Amino acid sequence: MFENLGDKLQSIFDSLKGKGKLSEKDVELAMKEIRMALLEADVNYKVVKDFVKDIKERATGQEVMESLTPGQMVIKIVNEELTSLMGEKEVKLNISSKSPTVILMCGLQGAGKTTHCGKLAFHLLKKKKKPLLVACDIYRPAAIKQLQVVSKAVGCDFFEMGDKVSAVDIAKNGIEYARKNGNDYVIIDTAGRLHIDESLMDELVNIKKEVNPDDILLVVDAMTGQDAVNVAEKFNENLEITGVVLTKLDGDTRGGAALSIRKVTNKPIKFIGTGEKMENLEPFYPDRMASRILGMGDVLSLIEKAENVIDAKRAKELEEKIRSQSYSFNDYLEQLEQMKNMGPLEDLLSMIPGVNKNMLKGINIDEKDIARVEAIIRSMTYEEREKPEIIDVSRKKRIAEGSGVSQAKVNTLLKQFRETKKMMKQFTNLEKTAKKRGKMK
Ligand code: GDP
Repeated sequence: MFENLGDKLQSIFDSLKGKGKLSEKDVELAMKEIRMALLEADVNYKVVKDFVKDIKERATGQEVMESLTPGQMVIKIVNEELTSLMGEKEVKLNISSKSPTVILMCGLQGAGKTTHCGKLAFHLLKKKKKPLLVACDIYRPAAIKQLQVVSKAVGCDFFEMGDKVSAVDIAKNGIEYARKNGNDYVIIDTAGRLHIDESLMDELVNIKKEVNPDDILLVVDAMTGQDAVNVAEKFNENLEITGVVLTKLDGDTRGGAALSIRKVTNKPIKFIGTGEKMENLEPFYPDRMASRILGMGDVLSLIEKAENVIDAKRAKELEEKIRSQSYSFNDYLEQLEQMKNMGPLEDLLSMIPGVNKNMLKGINIDEKDIARVEAIIRSMTYEEREKPEIIDVSRKKRIAEGSGVSQAKVNTLLKQFRETKKMMKQFTNLEKTAKKRGKMK
């Protein structure tokens, strides 16, 4: 996401960074380029106008002009303004004082409503909540079935009354059912239309009146750019939404919607959808998104992803193993597994500061290479993984045959592993020396 915009902004910054001092003309030119880049990314033109005006005011201020690193200061300002444009802070789901908390999901057809009902339920299940999905789309054939399939997939409760009862009644009964069934969250899936129409809005307004939801989340498709922003404006006027779920940000979106919605509707983006799977939902953090756009990486999200799959105690044990030189192929295999659970390697790498997609083009990350390494390790016995030094020629031959690779590949892996361990040893030694020095001072 945001590749083009990120690349453009980076090249503008690169030209600024080279300069010792900035003249007003430099800033003027940079602002013009930033303006173009944002418009090309399909950001709402009014938003762009105000945004550039704010940056320009700050960038021509004394603080920047007199700074020794004016280029860096401009980047800092753009980063701060982008963050503020997207809403400054993460806005969490509202919580009702009395159970259950009710979330009404609305949006046009195909935006990803049903999918995101499931993703939200999955998100809540991970937080040890007990959500209930309620099927109120009585118009689209198979919509009820789709929600049922989704609820089965994530393993949460499901409520339906077929398509002969009004959506308002289903919503009311669903909440009643949740109370009896001990569900602390109710997520209501509603009907979408291809375009906004009055009967759709009326139905949603009626549901809202009847069930008084704690959150009214509008699901919009980021790929539709400014249309998404217009849709959000219309829904907000009629329904007073409480937040937005911006979907399909994994696609080739230019990012305009993400950058405009907050400013235009004054409603926060609460979540973003980044894929078709149930786990592809992320809380929206404006600061982290700004850093991602500017190619400054998103280390916090990376750490969070890691925390979801890595047990802290086990991580400490592994660290200890590295220190004591007892790190083995078994540990290596375990870490490979964890890495796979964190998602595609390319996505992870692009969250690291300074890494952008262009750089990744040069590095050919072949997930097949990783699979090959895994196959080789899996062909070793437990003892061989613990003590690779016992792997002699005949064992190598067996391992190569077992994993379907040449013996040379097995040799390479063994050699790399030895070298990695040697490097780890050097690091621990360095660390020890540094600590000793620290103490002597
Ligand atoms: P609804 O009509 O609003 O309920 O939309 P659906 O939930 O049926 O989603 C429409 C299509 O978009 C489906 O094929 C989903 O798999 C897909 N989809 C939903 N969310 C995402 C997302 O975040 N990324 C991608 N790539 N596809 C998504």
